[in-house]
Amino acid sequence: MSPIWHPFTQHGLQEPIPLVERAEGAALHLADGRRLVDAISSWWVTTHGHSHPRIAAAIAEQAGKLDQVIFAGWTHEPAESLAQGLIALMPEGLSHVFFSDSGSTAVEVALKMALGFWHNQGVARHRVLVMEHSYHGDTIGAMSIGARGVFNRAYEKLLFDVGTVPFPAAGAEQATLDALDQACRAQDVAAFIVEPLVLGAGGMLMYGPETLRAMREICAGHGVLFIADEVMTGWGRTGTLLACEQAGIVPDIVCLAKGITGGSLPLAVTLASPAVFDAHWSTDPAKQFFHSSSYTANPIACAAANANLAIWRDEPVQARIDALVGRQAAMLADLARLPNVANPRQVGTIIALDVVDPASAGYLSQVGPRLRESFRQAPVLLRPLGNTVYVMPPYCVDETDLAAVGKAIGQAVETLAQP
Ligand SMILES: *Cc1c(COP(=O)(O)O)cnc(C)c1O
Repeated sequence: MSPIWHPFTQHGLQEPIPLVERAEGAALHLADGRRLVDAISSWWVTTHGHSHPRIAAAIAEQAGKLDQVIFAGWTHEPAESLAQGLIALMPEGLSHVFFSDSGSTAVEVALKMALGFWHNQGVARHRVLVMEHSYHGDTIGAMSIGARGVFNRAYEKLLFDVGTVPFPAAGAEQATLDALDQACRAQDVAAFIVEPLVLGAGGMLMYGPETLRAMREICAGHGVLFIADEVMTGWGRTGTLLACEQAGIVPDIVCLAKGITGGSLPLAVTLASPAVFDAHWSTDPAKQFFHSSSYTANPIACAAANANLAIWRDEPVQARIDALVGRQAAMLADLARLPNVANPRQVGTIIALDVVDPASAGYLSQVGPRLRESFRQAPVLLRPLGNTVYVMPPYCVDETDLAAVGKAIGQAVETLAQP
């Protein structure tokens, strides 16, 4: 038996853990010879496809040149190019780039920046507002601002208190806006953090750009910092480079990770406005930003991210995304006609639906395990969130592979419908 303790895995269930040997494009190749369509982009990271030749080449070249160097007070070309490239690509008003290693750390950095912003100005604001059902990562700070549930019950005593506004369900958007406005009136609110347009791990819950825009305006009106967690939604997932673009807004702080290296290496950035940076700018060492990790801005990861930026620049990425958006819409329309399917929904390249089980609900409902069992037999990698099935493939996925995904979902749902 392997000594490996896997993430989000109940080893006691003794489910098979397939050995993946290699991957290319939208396909994973297993040691037992099977080929699977990666319908969830290996947990939402792979954008242009696996083992993209340009990214792989950039990694190899950088690895032979400069592998790693301390980043506190030192710099290197891959990080400098990447920071310039990001600022050029991102909406105007985000002028500073702080590097870290994962979505969770990008979020921790954002929270610390927001609290530092107020602290350094001598203002007692330290409360964070969040949205119901949100997910921001698995470290203690990120868990604190995420939905509470079975995932974090054991750690709940450690989590800090936050203010929660309701999810803006269709038709109930005004209640969210009113609650946010009310919450922002408290004198101690430092920031509001939100996943723009799609709440990923919370069940692929979707809301409109008008609501996102209105939330940003409410925060601005109260001087509350607006943090967009674009860790999942960034890099084209919602049809545009950033989800915030669709709302025409510029947050004070933006978190990016997952697709920043095209899904090849761990890297994250937290982008900040001049005001957030300036609040830390001083001749007083006590006002510096107290955060680092050993591998901050690792040169090899930065080189991979630079290759990702070059792909966005030189290749018809937006056209691929637009084509995928259309195919996903067609597939969703077909799946919506299946029995026991509810709430078919789409934002950009992401489609999702709920499989209804009148007997039980929630992440640990029996629908989830039965769907997973079904998908294990299929030539696809799908990992439902409880009873929510979603498809979020790499942009290079072709029609044949996408059809295989649709077929696998159809079969799983029909099997479930049988008594
Ligand atoms: C995945 C995710 C995170 C955490 O990113 P990791 O790289 O897994 O730490 C944070 N926020 C959102 C919205 C995510 O989807």
